[in-house]
Amino acid sequence: MKKIVSTNPAKNYEVLGEVPISTKKEIAEKVAQANRAKKEWKETELSQRIDMLKCVYEGFSKRRLEFALLKTREMGMPINISVGEIYFGLQYFRGYLDVAEKILAPETTFEDSKTLHRVFYEPIGTAAVIIPWNFPFSNFIWGVIPNLLVGNTVVLKHAEECPLSGKFIEEVMTKAGLPKGVFSEVYGNAKVGSQLVHEPIDLICFTGSTAVGKLLYETAAKKFIKVILECGGSDPGIVFADADIPSAIQSIVYNRFLNCGQACNALKRLIVEERIADLVVKQLKAAIESQVVGDPEDTNTTVGPLVSKKQQMALTPQVQDALKKGAKIITGGKIPKHLKGAYYLPTLLTNVTPDMRVWKEEVFGPVLPVVTFKTDEEAIALANDTPYGLGGYVYSGNRERRERVASQLQAGGISINGADYLLPCNPFGGYKASGIGREHGKWGFYELCEKKVVAEKK
Ligand code: ADP
Repeated sequence: MKKIVSTNPAKNYEVLGEVPISTKKEIAEKVAQANRAKKEWKETELSQRIDMLKCVYEGFSKRRLEFALLKTREMGMPINISVGEIYFGLQYFRGYLDVAEKILAPETTFEDSKTLHRVFYEPIGTAAVIIPWNFPFSNFIWGVIPNLLVGNTVVLKHAEECPLSGKFIEEVMTKAGLPKGVFSEVYGNAKVGSQLVHEPIDLICFTGSTAVGKLLYETAAKKFIKVILECGGSDPGIVFADADIPSAIQSIVYNRFLNCGQACNALKRLIVEERIADLVVKQLKAAIESQVVGDPEDTNTTVGPLVSKKQQMALTPQVQDALKKGAKIITGGKIPKHLKGAYYLPTLLTNVTPDMRVWKEEVFGPVLPVVTFKTDEEAIALANDTPYGLGGYVYSGNRERRERVASQLQAGGISINGADYLLPCNPFGGYKASGIGREHGKWGFYELCEKKVVAEKK
């Protein structure tokens, strides 16, 4: 039996455990079970589905610290952030439970003395949910819970980088006692994910790279089923000279270096008005050098390792390419010798040009490239100079300017002066290569439903 081995990226890849890779037969059986369960799950009253999911919520809530530590060991997320990620996921879970009845209630769209027209929201069927490793709990919550609430059944494939987190989730879900087949998991890498989407499923919900998103879009097209894709991003951050600089610095450092830079909506390219660039770079350098890089199990640590050696090996040539083309390292720019694992020092790069990989590609690690601008138009053009369009950050004390700039950014979520747009009631998703469709709020729920209009004569 083939297994995925889980290793600790902070402790020189010490083995944490292993999980058997699902066979083709097992994957087919899980999907068949999900398909058998879908009629009953669809016909279960929404209020009952909510009650069952409240047990799931309690299950995760009770074991949150245990799960936080497991995530820290498995993917290197600093323990405080890992605990925070559980609260973040639970906040979304709670948010979905609170609004599901309102959002999914039948809607009267037209009524006169003779007819009544109503729209009903119905589940689509069995969803294959495929997620990455960067937020092992909230990726699961975002992908799975709204599907279960609307009445879809789910077969989940978590990432191969965190199989023990996948197992933990399965254990809590099983204890909560959902009907057989409503939720199940398969384990493995790309091959298992590919086998899963080739089974008779009705919907693909994917979070991960644009390259894989495109493959899944093609598979879905052949089957003529729907996809919801949340792919990468290379979010710009624009700092105008009229911004509150200390507050902008705090927000930039948080949004770039959280989770060692491994977030799809991290601030990945900084665009600074030329006349304040020296000041911003100086303050950023100080803020970055005050980060505590090290053992993620230590509560003082703010930046742990990357998730894996593979990720470290992907990041290194991106930075080297920038240096070869003339970028300057202000701080960081290397693998620290005294730490054994997938570490990379938080890095600030200036003299960055648009031909560099750190500008053109998504950089999934603690590296911040900086460019400068003179006019608002130039700033907007630089911000939109990317295939991606997930989010953007604007820092300005001038309301008219920041709102005009926000309206011109080609991205699904804009943060102004450090405000966080991530809330369960807000849509999340991207323009351009950052994805198809939206998660959360009414927009996210409706993506997962069929809409049926029923017109009746009175
Ligand atoms: P990342 O770069 O963040 O690992 P990927 O897009 O490679 O992002 O992977 C995200 C998820 O998609 C993981 O669970 C991975 O196993 C899965 N995956 C990768 N390739 C495929 C594929 N060809 N078909 C289905 N799932 C895949």
